[in-house]
Amino acid sequence: MSEKIHQVAIIGSGPAGYTAAIYAARANLEPILVDGMQPGGQLTITTEVENYPGFPEGMQGPELMDLFRKQAERFGTQFVMGQVSKVDFESRPFTLEVDGGEDIKANSVIIATGASARWLGIESEKALMGHGVSACATCDGFFFKDVPVVVVGGGDTALEEASFLSRFASKVSIIHRRDELRGSKIMQKRAFDNPKIEFVWDSVVEEILGSKEDGVTGVTVKNVKTGETSKIDCEGYFVAIGHKPNTEIFKGQIDLHENGYIVLAEPGTSKTSREGIFVAGDAADQHYRQAITAAGTGCMAALDAERYLLTLED
Ligand code: FAD
Ligand code: NAP
Repeated sequence: MSEKIHQVAIIGSGPAGYTAAIYAARANLEPILVDGMQPGGQLTITTEVENYPGFPEGMQGPELMDLFRKQAERFGTQFVMGQVSKVDFESRPFTLEVDGGEDIKANSVIIATGASARWLGIESEKALMGHGVSACATCDGFFFKDVPVVVVGGGDTALEEASFLSRFASKVSIIHRRDELRGSKIMQKRAFDNPKIEFVWDSVVEEILGSKEDGVTGVTVKNVKTGETSKIDCEGYFVAIGHKPNTEIFKGQIDLHENGYIVLAEPGTSKTSREGIFVAGDAADQHYRQAITAAGTGCMAALDAERYLLTLED
């Protein structure tokens, strides 16, 4: 094990982790950042990002994250390839166990492990990701002007996504596995009143049709009550069956909400229930889940960590 005790260790290399690294590095804290299994984070699985300020023409997700990384590198961030498999936050210095690498010891830790959209898990979802398959209507809805789209799910997210998509799409079909929605009454009413939204009840998606070249062309759905299969023509497929924060390794070390999101000890800061451990980005955000908010909270976490480290010097 390396004897070095770092000032700041950052877990995760999405917009939150990289931004935290830029700020911590510019504060001369020489951060060490563990990439995880998805270097660059969720934006590396999308194509065009059109709502990140500063890029009026838009930017490819992977390219944008590459720029974040270069900026963090420029100020001296140390990058470590690998996944943190276990943490010990009981006493300082805190310890991170990295799969296939040396343990890292640090006086403060910024958690920026993000969240993952839940997917149905069918092959065609993976194959057509970024080619008409998406888990983020706010991000990709704009690309589906005057064409039909489908949304899978029956909760508030599905209803909200469908309502947002109805601004662009010619028709939005919500495919739900039951005949009753889980979403709130007010969101249900909004969806029922929207002439562009229709419901496909008691149905599950079996296959997404299309190719990388042509994009999505339709979905086949099975009615779970009758067993009948039918095809719905669409050019966009949005999955909205919930998100899962990547926080399993923190269970028992810091407070988590029942659904796994990290609890903020002081709202409006990045502080977790453990002094010296901070969080940024989607791992603590069940509402906004955007690159810009992740980056913003990454900045907050670095500033909070810097202030915390100063208190250790007193
Ligand atoms: P993430 O980007 O999720 O990054 C998490 C990081 O943590 C990854 O690097 C991962 O490897 C690492 N990690 C996880 N667990 C561990 C571990 N145990 N050890 C080490 N590292 C770990 N937002 C927009 O604003 N505009 C868009 O156009 C847009 N498009 C999107 C398109 C898609 C398909 C998706 C899925 C999301 C999109 N989003 C968009 C949302 C945006 O990507 C997220 O809000 C943002 O990436 C969250 O940033 P983050 O840094 O919190 O986490
Ligand atoms: P959710 O409430 O858990 O709903 C998930 C939906 O996806 C459910 O309808 C569920 O069906 C369906 N589903 C889950 N797994 C599925 C599968 N494998 N195949 C097909 N369908 C599947 O998740 P959410 O909609 O993301 O909402 C999460 C939380 O955020 C909720 O508390 C919600 O109220 C909140 N939220 C609030 C707002 C708002 O107020 N504006 C907006 C978005 C989210 P079943 O119903 O059959 O289980």
